[in-house]
Amino acid sequence: MRQSKLFIPTLKEVPNDAVVASHVLMLRAGYVRSLGAGIYSFLPLGYKVVKKITEIIREEMDAIGGQEFHLPALNPREIWEETNRVEAFGDTMFHLKNRDYILAPTHEEIITYHARKVVNSYKDMPQIWFQIQTKFRNEPRPRSGVIRGRQFLMKDSYSMDVSEEGLHLSYKAHEEAYKKIFNRCGLKFFVVGASSGAMGGSGSEEFMVKSEAGEDTVAYCEDCGYAANVEVATSNASRKLRDEVSKEVYEIHTPDVKSIDELCEFLKIDESECAKSRVYIASGNPVLILMMGNDEVNETKLQKVLGDEVRPAHPEELKEITGADAGSIGPIGFKGKIYADYRIMNANNMYSGANKNDYHIGGIDFMRDVPSAEYADFRIVRSGEECPKCGAALGVFPAIELGHIFKLGTRYSEAMGAMFTDENSTEKPIIMGSYGIGVERVMACAIEQEHDENGIVWSKSLAPFDIHLLGLNMKKDNVAIASERLYKMLTDAGYSVLYDDRIDAGAGFKFKDADLLGMPLQVVVGEKGLKEGKVELKLRKTGKRVDTQIDYILESVKSLLDELPV
Ligand code: ATP
Ligand code: MG
Repeated sequence: MRQSKLFIPTLKEVPNDAVVASHVLMLRAGYVRSLGAGIYSFLPLGYKVVKKITEIIREEMDAIGGQEFHLPALNPREIWEETNRVEAFGDTMFHLKNRDYILAPTHEEIITYHARKVVNSYKDMPQIWFQIQTKFRNEPRPRSGVIRGRQFLMKDSYSMDVSEEGLHLSYKAHEEAYKKIFNRCGLKFFVVGASSGAMGGSGSEEFMVKSEAGEDTVAYCEDCGYAANVEVATSNASRKLRDEVSKEVYEIHTPDVKSIDELCEFLKIDESECAKSRVYIASGNPVLILMMGNDEVNETKLQKVLGDEVRPAHPEELKEITGADAGSIGPIGFKGKIYADYRIMNANNMYSGANKNDYHIGGIDFMRDVPSAEYADFRIVRSGEECPKCGAALGVFPAIELGHIFKLGTRYSEAMGAMFTDENSTEKPIIMGSYGIGVERVMACAIEQEHDENGIVWSKSLAPFDIHLLGLNMKKDNVAIASERLYKMLTDAGYSVLYDDRIDAGAGFKFKDADLLGMPLQVVVGEKGLKEGKVELKLRKTGKRVDTQIDYILESVKSLLDELPV
């Protein structure tokens, strides 16, 4: 393609609302434009990348026997009423003025609707149905560009099986297909086991990439591959061991000491000797949670122990419940249930608040003084702590979910009456799985992972063009002639080439654009090189430069591109 004829509206300035690298670069390089909060138009270069991703996904879905559908985004609302998901999605679902229809945020219901009509016998299964199609979700905070759009493309597939074993095979087939897809896209990903959650399934995993733009926080062990959302992640953080002798409980005047750090400073003690207090209201009752030192309470873990009806106590409530303000609260004399984190289980000689402003208590022995305390894992794991599986150091960082595989079980088939008869003519609900990949998210994550201050660095597999051919001074006949010749040679050899044939653009401008747009290989045609019959090749990823005779261009291009893994 001749760049003089292609619509690539690059931007010099970074738009104000774009903060995430992929968002900034997709706008600057003219791949997308915003049409409203969370709504993006894909321009020609951007859409080429989308098509490359969907083609990779399609090939791998075909390879596991997936059959491609194209389901409507406009759905009769009553189908969604069958599973109560109009209510479950709430404001995230786009409702139309015509109340009979909604815009589909996903397609479990529609698949199950069709399955119930046509998948009636064990002989009709297994099935894998997939589509690559637009979804609508009224995301409350659409930021980070296409990573969280209100309209986005999803590859969603659904498996139908007669047994749990069958479901497991379909699930594993997707897991393997997803690994191939993300590897082919050049993404460094890891797989996080998720709890089955509200959808009522029996197993689920998320494919994640590390990224500053991520809205999830995960704990990941590079050594053994342990990966878990920080909501459920654990570690082998050390526990407070019991001292041989327990001191007596004693009160200490601690004026103006509020935080654990201030307490440690004031008493010259280690934070591991402090039991930090957090008061919650669980189903209307006050509950004290004690944590070691500066450990933070993980509210997901808290809910597991105390149920969903739990919230932090308000400051006014604190005073009423304990007689003190935050910073002076502790277990001795606390009226209500007391829990403590495993790290300080049965510890002695601990310090905590006295439930009296400006006072703390030392010499607390949990076994002796707080015998009613119950223990659980309540804490948020931190970077550097020991991996619970292998003991190596855990990393805790933000990550983006690229894809999700999910054993649905019979949640949908039961709700919607999608039944089949087995070999013994017994009627049973179809056993289902659902599997999603965000197409634009794959694109954004590829940019998140591979870019530098100058622009995007595409893998060969996702790049809109294999080669960016730059004719530096196209006013010069020799440059123009050689560039045209190279364009033909490279195109004839089967490469897709973006040819910067613009006459008025200066060399510096062309170099900048080429780095910004990010094609894997640049072929630079300049007057100086041409004097020796040479052009320069540059790999965008490594910056490696090679001069080559025009006659050997194909060999040189091939050998440089072969240096890139994907
Ligand atoms: P998230 O937690 O990020 O909102 P989700 O759990 O809602 O994701 P799923 O319903 O499992 O996502 O959808 C499958 C895939 O679709 C996700 O793994 C993600 O890649 C993609 N996806 C979900 N929501 C969006 C969105 N608003 N914009 C772009 N892609 C999305
Ligand atoms: Mg979501």
